[in-house]
Order: sequence, then structure tokens, then C-alpha cells
Amino acid sequence: MSTFYEMGVFNDEYYDMFPGTKQNRLSTLIELISFTLLYAQKGPICDKHYNLAKKLNKGDIVISFNYDTILDDALQKAGKLTDSGYLVEFSKVFKNKTWESPEQKESEVNLLKLHGSLNWNRCKRCKLNFLLKSISVESRLDMFNYLNPKCIRCDTNSVELVLIPPLIGKNYHEFGVDYLWSDT
Ligand SMILES: [Zn+2]
Repeated sequence: MSTFYEMGVFNDEYYDMFPGTKQNRLSTLIELISFTLLYAQKGPICDKHYNLAKKLNKGDIVISFNYDTILDDALQKAGKLTDSGYLVEFSKVFKNKTWESPEQKESEVNLLKLHGSLNWNRCKRCKLNFLLKSISVESRLDMFNYLNPKCIRCDTNSVELVLIPPLIGKNYHEFGVDYLWSDT
């Protein structure tokens, strides 16, 4: 039993279409998902999400299986989501075209993204997480052209998107978000 994605990514019948190792094919799948979603969420912040964000109260917790940052952006615009609101320990935050330390301010709302998020990166080598924030989708698209960005700590191409694709054997531990499931 395997999912549609696993059939596409791992089945050797498709080797000619998706050459490379299984890990390469998985990376290709993640890139395709991220590009598709980044293009799909281009434009101004969605009014419906913004209205929902405004209605949320201090202490509310939103559990999401989505990778996109539509609700994240709406919550930030409403002043209800800070860097700590994801309950992910970020080493650095990319903001205003530079890397900064995460803000310490408490988040009114917690947003638990159990399958990862388009704006989370993780260095496989250092086991550090990075948050990409306050940048337009256009510049995110530019940033994702790097696809294998260098880690600002170890300076190797070990950084990957924290985006856990729809596979049966999801490895949350590898992406460093397994504890979010127990928190939930
Ligand atoms: Zn690193």
C-alpha cells in the first residue's frame, strides 16, 4: 500500500522521468509542492483569512496541516503571531533582508503546523531551524531559486525546506517537528 505520491516518487517505473536517487526524487517533489504553493498564494493577504485572524483571541491555538503561509501572514498582519507562536525553536529569522535573532515577544495565538511550513528551513547538519519572515512572496520565490541554500552557521548546502510530503512513512523526527505532534 502506498500513496499516489509514493508511486510517483519512488516507483522505479518512473525512473526515466525522475532520475536520481529516491532522496533526489523526494527533493524534487518538495520543490514542486513549494513552487506551486508559492505561486498560488501570490498577491495581497486574503481578506477571509485576515477576518478569521482578527477574531482569534489570546490563548487560541490553530492546528494546521497546510504548508502555505496564508493564515500565518494574516495572523502577523493582525499582530497575533510572533516568531515564538509556532512553538518551533528558530536559530535565526530572515527579516528585512537580513538574519536576526527571533523576537522574544509572546505570541497571542499559537499556530502549530504539523506538516511543516513553506517559511521554515532546517539545516540537516547543524539541526538548526530558520524562519523566513516579512518578505514578499516574490522575494521568497527568488530565495527559493537557491533551493539548496547555504546554512549561515556551517556554510554548507545542507539546508532544506521543512515540508513533510504526503507519504505513508512520514519521518517527522528527521525534520525536527515530531514534538509538535505530542504538544498537539
Ligand atoms: Zn548548518
